[in-house]
Amino acid sequence: MELNEALHRLKELQERQYAYGAGLNALNLDGDTVAPRDTNEGRALAMSILAGDWHRQFTSPETGELLNFLTEHQAELPATERRQTEVLKRDYDKSTRIPQEEFVAFQRLTSEANDIWKRAKESSDFAMFQPYLEKIVAYNIRFAAYYDPNKLPYDALLDEYERGATTAYLDDFFSALRKRVVPLLQAVRERPQIEDSFLHRRYPVEDQRKLSDYLMSVMGMDRNHSTIGETEHPFTLTFNNKDARITTHYYENDLASSMFSVIHESGHATYDMGVRDEYQYTCLANGVSMGIHESQSRFYENLIGRSRPFIEAIYPKVREIFPEQLADISSEQFWRAVNKAQPGLIRTEADELTYPLHIMVRYEIEKRLIDGSLKVADVPAEWNRLYKEYLGVDVPDDARGCLQDVHWAGGSIGYFPTYALGSAYGAQMLQRMEQDIDVWGPVGRGDLTQVTAWLRDKVHQYGGFLEPADVVRNACGTFDPNVYAEYLEKKFSALYGL
Ligand code: ZN
Repeated sequence: MELNEALHRLKELQERQYAYGAGLNALNLDGDTVAPRDTNEGRALAMSILAGDWHRQFTSPETGELLNFLTEHQAELPATERRQTEVLKRDYDKSTRIPQEEFVAFQRLTSEANDIWKRAKESSDFAMFQPYLEKIVAYNIRFAAYYDPNKLPYDALLDEYERGATTAYLDDFFSALRKRVVPLLQAVRERPQIEDSFLHRRYPVEDQRKLSDYLMSVMGMDRNHSTIGETEHPFTLTFNNKDARITTHYYENDLASSMFSVIHESGHATYDMGVRDEYQYTCLANGVSMGIHESQSRFYENLIGRSRPFIEAIYPKVREIFPEQLADISSEQFWRAVNKAQPGLIRTEADELTYPLHIMVRYEIEKRLIDGSLKVADVPAEWNRLYKEYLGVDVPDDARGCLQDVHWAGGSIGYFPTYALGSAYGAQMLQRMEQDIDVWGPVGRGDLTQVTAWLRDKVHQYGGFLEPADVVRNACGTFDPNVYAEYLEKKFSALYGL
């Protein structure tokens, strides 16, 4: 094979992969948004054929030969193609490493586990789910050995979600949080609680849609290249850097829910839309990892969106849309209300301060399930003990305890830590950004262009070209989990007068 021909085939392979992905995404999005209710059958058939072809093409011997050839000639490749080869080769090796029968059996197990988990959650019956979780843990331990037999099994699993993250790294990270955030939350609980009942007055959906349009314009989302839809759970789907779709869910008696979802999902979309043109339709076109993606969405949602200057800037418009509901509410009251910290049982309803503590519980439990020091049967008791210790709450039943999340039932172990890492990366990015530019002057006028330009320069443009750790280094220097703890201390001390 000639090098030029190989490079041509590399481009063609990636464009084909893009085309399959775009087709699947379009069908997925259609099913979740505008498709009539009873139309799943035909869509599911089309999707399973597309997904099968996609997988077969990628794992074919020809693809293997091409990637081997390019790897042998990597010194002669331009930087972009060298990186593409590296990323694709890693994915190829991974997808061919797990024996086919085991992979299929695991798919069957998780699909069944998912149904059982739903029923177990409905009846709050952990014993029903326990045998499935035991099998899922056992599979994950075996898969970890296929991924990398030289690593600790949990580290090999973490690598699937946040390349480069290790138990040692996360132990340091969470221990810094435990030392500072647990006492901070205790101090907050002893203060008078923030009044936020006005956020639960009646906010008609058609008016909330106007608010979404306004927030997307503040976020700089070009509506010729992005849309917003409505789904059960908000998400972002990006076809390429010129076509991003976000969704939200409106609750008539909860103003903040959709408001901050729209900012969060716009943050994900802004990341993907900031990736360089030259990486489009290749494996480098999207955000590099879960953790870095969450760092961007949470940056906009919490660090900017829940800041005093940002609320000051947007509040006149919010009140113009909801003049009666907010007639007696000042922007300061509004800012306090959207930052209320209150320990609860449910991760997805958690506020900015308590969220990382929910993740810490999950991290400690799944790490110990994989290293064998915790039995699946003991998960509920350990879960409840840790919730009491970190959040100070009593877990009344497993439905509101260890059965609340879908992740383990779906087979994912090692996923949770990325949520907390993202927030911590974001806090350190903000510290750096404040040294480089005037952040709060423009934000206080509702102008996010400088913020987005900084993030584009340090993070977004690279897409998958840099490893997650290199993105963090590029944007933050050496990662220091104390910066995040300090950020939380400063913010919540001010809010609660500590
Ligand atoms: Zn997100």
